[in-house]
Amino acid sequence: MNEFELIQSYFNWSIKDPSIALGIGDDAALFSLKDGQQLVTTTDTLSESVHFFKDALPSDIAYKSLVVNLSDIAAMGASAKYFTLALTLPKINHDWIEEFSKSLRQLSEYHKISLIGGDTTKGPLNITITMMGVVETSRALLRSGAGTGDGVYVSGTIGDAALCLKKLRDGLVPSKGELLKLNRPTPRLELGMGLKGVASSCIDISDGLEQDLSHILMASDVGAVIDVKNFPLSESVLSYIKNNGDWSIPLCGGDDYELCFTVPESNKKALKILSQSCNMDITKIGHIDDSRVLKIDGYDGARNSYQHF
Ligand code: ADP
Ligand code: MG
Repeated sequence: MNEFELIQSYFNWSIKDPSIALGIGDDAALFSLKDGQQLVTTTDTLSESVHFFKDALPSDIAYKSLVVNLSDIAAMGASAKYFTLALTLPKINHDWIEEFSKSLRQLSEYHKISLIGGDTTKGPLNITITMMGVVETSRALLRSGAGTGDGVYVSGTIGDAALCLKKLRDGLVPSKGELLKLNRPTPRLELGMGLKGVASSCIDISDGLEQDLSHILMASDVGAVIDVKNFPLSESVLSYIKNNGDWSIPLCGGDDYELCFTVPESNKKALKILSQSCNMDITKIGHIDDSRVLKIDGYDGARNSYQHF
């Protein structure tokens, strides 16, 4: 099987979205935007041994490659529409590609997003997805809007993915639920869309709350005080911290794909309504001030969020 047959067999799914004028098969894809919409685009790469273990399931790899991109779209308050897939494979292993493509297809059907192109090459396993979405003109959530006095919030619970990864690295066996948090995170798309006009800034937590919140502070030219006592934690993370006192897991651990955002006092009520309508737990962990630094009450350990270099 050559590269073109591989694309035909595994990735040329039927396209249902009428805004796509031309999908897979030409030099590039074509799609139409409506008036009053801006195109939102983001890319994320997953590399073997960096983002997933050598023996990771192809279905989990596919799932996560899509979610990490969807999470960026969520953090912009946009809705996801199209994606391209640049796939580098060491060899053609039909079972592997079949499982990968099935999982990718299922998740993309669930989110009503379409695969419109890509590239297929030979080399060390690497998956790069470029996700495109749309947002009403000038309404996207940015990192740069946080103002003094705004509350700092996070969705869901934090530290679960990092704790699972730590357990795997320490040779322990995480529970099924813990593995799901690491391998199958949920992109907070509905929440992101609802935060438009409510939040003043937003980011997704991919590299650790401490680092990602710092990006908001830098972009907004403000500071913040957060308190570890306020962190929303699952039972597993809570019991881990009780035993080890190690707050770096929820503070600096990445891969949760929850949203961190700031909300002015005047929008607190709207936030509460949104939290109920999305059925999503949202927790205030601190507030923005004009100090230009991130003060973390209850923590004086290392600030070691994920960095590639
Ligand atoms: P080009 O030579 O212009 O780079 P290719 O021969 O690489 O085009 O790809 C042929 C078509 O298949 C293009 O429409 C491309 O977007 C699509 N394609 C290639 N690889 C993939 C993939 N892994 N998933 C989806 N579409 C793909
Ligand atoms: Mg090509």
